[in-house]
Amino acid sequence: MSYRINLNDKQMTEIVNKYQDYRIAHTNNYTLFRAKYKMATLTIFKTLTMIVQGGGAKEMYNDICGLLGLDATCEAEAINKTTELNLSVIGTDEVGTGDFFGPVVVAGAFVPENKIPALIRLGIKDSKQVNDEKIRILAPKLMKELQHSILVLDNVKYNYLTRIRHYNMNKIKALLHNNVVYNLMSTVKNYDRIVIDAFTTKDKYFEYLKGEKIKIANVELVEKGESKFLAVAAASIIARYAFICEFEKLSQKVGLDLPKGAGNKVDLAISKILKSQSERYFDIISKTNFKNFERVKRKDSN
Ligand code: MN
Repeated sequence: MSYRINLNDKQMTEIVNKYQDYRIAHTNNYTLFRAKYKMATLTIFKTLTMIVQGGGAKEMYNDICGLLGLDATCEAEAINKTTELNLSVIGTDEVGTGDFFGPVVVAGAFVPENKIPALIRLGIKDSKQVNDEKIRILAPKLMKELQHSILVLDNVKYNYLTRIRHYNMNKIKALLHNNVVYNLMSTVKNYDRIVIDAFTTKDKYFEYLKGEKIKIANVELVEKGESKFLAVAAASIIARYAFICEFEKLSQKVGLDLPKGAGNKVDLAISKILKSQSERYFDIISKTNFKNFERVKRKDSN
């Protein structure tokens, strides 16, 4: 059994002080501190992830929780996190659903149990907490290391599905996640769990998939999946990377540094593009059912 806590600087210092006398040598660049106490091994990585493993790990972990003033909830969290350390997981996540410009991207990644330590050392976490620059470095590494699948729903298809077929965003997400999982399952043999970063309930998810020929049934929708499963975190980084690349191409095509999201900057960009392009042009560069589009058109026509 292994236990993991993501530490802050102060907590790290407290632990290092306490186990200073049990310090053992470490041989790689990723490790900050290692100690052996009775049968258990404590490792703190430079990313400030702490892992306790080996016989007596639970006692040592309890001691550390006591030291840091973490209570019983900490225990519950530990169980949640430790389950993953012994599991091979397929994880999926999506990007672009809140961006007026650009596609919707869903990616999936398979993290087999034996690759978990390597990913922890890379400092893999939710893509929202990682800036674009870091994404560009991490994603290619992950894509080389892990079996993965990426689906990009371009704007033409998105606008067709929403306008003509009347699909909502959640249905679109469900279809893409289901597809990504299906793609991965054709190459991944031994997995323990399939985890989708939850965007709806499980019941609704399968309602959206009604009418699909292929439905992968043994999936779990986990809230904040990216902070609980490395496979979901990896998928979020890969999806983000694919989105950034598509977004760049799109900016070049339009000849404008397009803004992300759906805020005021987006409205200004729409207004600017409308000066030289027809409304129909937006079918190929944006999600035209976002409120931004109507709003700007109404304003500009006054
Ligand atoms: Mn997500």
